[in-house]
Amino acid sequence: MSTTPPELKFTTLEEIDEAYYTLQKTFLSGKTKPIAFRKVQILQLAYLLKDNYDRFKEAFAIDLGRPPLEASFLELDSTIADCKIAYDRVEKWARTEKAPFNINFFAFRPVIRKEPKGVVLSISPFNYPVWLALGPIIGAIAAGNCVVLKPSELSPAISGLIAELIPKYMDSDVIRVVLGAVPETSKLLEYQWGHVLYTGNGRVARIIGVATAKTLSPISLELGGKSPVVVDPRCDIKTAARRIMWGKCVNAGQTCVAPDYVLIPRSAEDALVKALKDAHDEFYPSGAISTKDISHIINTAHFHRIKNLLENTSGTVAFGGQTDESRKFIAPTVVRGVKDGDSLMSEELFGPILPIMPVDNVDAAIAYINAHDHPLALYCFSQDAAFKNKVFDNTQSGSAVANDVLVHCAIDGLPFGGIGPSGSGYHTRKFSFDMFTHLRASLDSPGFIDSILGGRFPPYTAKSEAF
Ligand code: NAD
Repeated sequence: MSTTPPELKFTTLEEIDEAYYTLQKTFLSGKTKPIAFRKVQILQLAYLLKDNYDRFKEAFAIDLGRPPLEASFLELDSTIADCKIAYDRVEKWARTEKAPFNINFFAFRPVIRKEPKGVVLSISPFNYPVWLALGPIIGAIAAGNCVVLKPSELSPAISGLIAELIPKYMDSDVIRVVLGAVPETSKLLEYQWGHVLYTGNGRVARIIGVATAKTLSPISLELGGKSPVVVDPRCDIKTAARRIMWGKCVNAGQTCVAPDYVLIPRSAEDALVKALKDAHDEFYPSGAISTKDISHIINTAHFHRIKNLLENTSGTVAFGGQTDESRKFIAPTVVRGVKDGDSLMSEELFGPILPIMPVDNVDAAIAYINAHDHPLALYCFSQDAAFKNKVFDNTQSGSAVANDVLVHCAIDGLPFGGIGPSGSGYHTRKFSFDMFTHLRASLDSPGFIDSILGGRFPPYTAKSEAF
């Protein structure tokens, strides 16, 4: 198996133009409207993943050094499961809904039609290059749209594989993959879209926001940020440490909802550090350096970014800290005694470094969280309902998770999205369908209504005032 990332052949600007107008023509033809057509495309997407499961695992290894098991449970199996959910439920999701009964208006027969938005665009990131590229598309196809997918150029093995397989499994008049970086994405953003979903960082999100404002294309932003963990010293520290450590190490911390940093009372810092070290040693019994159970950092630019943050911390490395540029490897690292203003608190880490910031009490933790951007996820480890409620009731975040990390993304029925700087809009499963669906208010007014509501027509007389 080759471990060298392939050279991606980027889509030309002429091909992008052809793709956009082909999809517009298809959408207008009504081809994507029948539910049966949508279901075939969703099924084909599931087969695309199932038939090529091992090739995807190899591509994950090339792009991210991702352990095969993580490739399966984090992305491949969950995306196939999302296909199945959409396949089974699309009729229900797409069904026209009656407006709530109201004696004044029921005669109008008011309904909400669930209609596709048209030709939609999804721009996806490198870190979960299958689930975040294909997951939202399941919703877009289920909703009856035509789709352009722009996967990340930073994960070339996966993005190249997706670009190779989509035309083989799915209808090229309905879905196209555009490969490229900034020039290709900028070209895409010149068009008007039924909807644009951008998943990535806040800096680029601002560029996307400005570009889509020019065409009045509606957008959803799935962004990141620093997701805190508030630890109650009375919690089950061993369980908390194992879960936090796992959430930090999975995909080498390159997870938008990874626990970014820990806030804990000073008196409990020693106990947490010890429990984190125990969890680390249990996960990597022969040491993190030699394990095959940790992904690497996506590229050398990100490797150096994270290494610089670590080198400039004023905290103390409790354990870890080893790096190997040749493998883009950073060992799981816990840094203790970190203070506000530290390099590790300056930006989303997106790597396997866990700063612990000791605070006086839970009020100080809440104040710190509220003084910074609303995070994508907020984690709280506590067995005390009052403690958890205090943390969740007095903060804002995309999600609020007690006593675990990351798992909320996998739970059917929960929306996935940020708030403010961590994003706007919701995706996963039905929420992806909703994102790409226009709720079209509709009614059919019968002739006899005028005998009741005739007063609405001029000339306005005393009789019309009664209406
Ligand atoms: P990335 O570098 O892969 O970029 C994401 C996409 O933006 C790519 O398709 C890329 O081609 C495009 N892009 C980059 N620069 C651009 C520009 N100037 N103009 C137009 N398009 C451009 O990934 P990233 O942004 O580094 O992804 C990591 C970030 O994404 C993190 O902040 C993470 O928290 C966030 N994220 C959020 C979610 C979520 O669902 N909320 C999921 C995953 C990642």
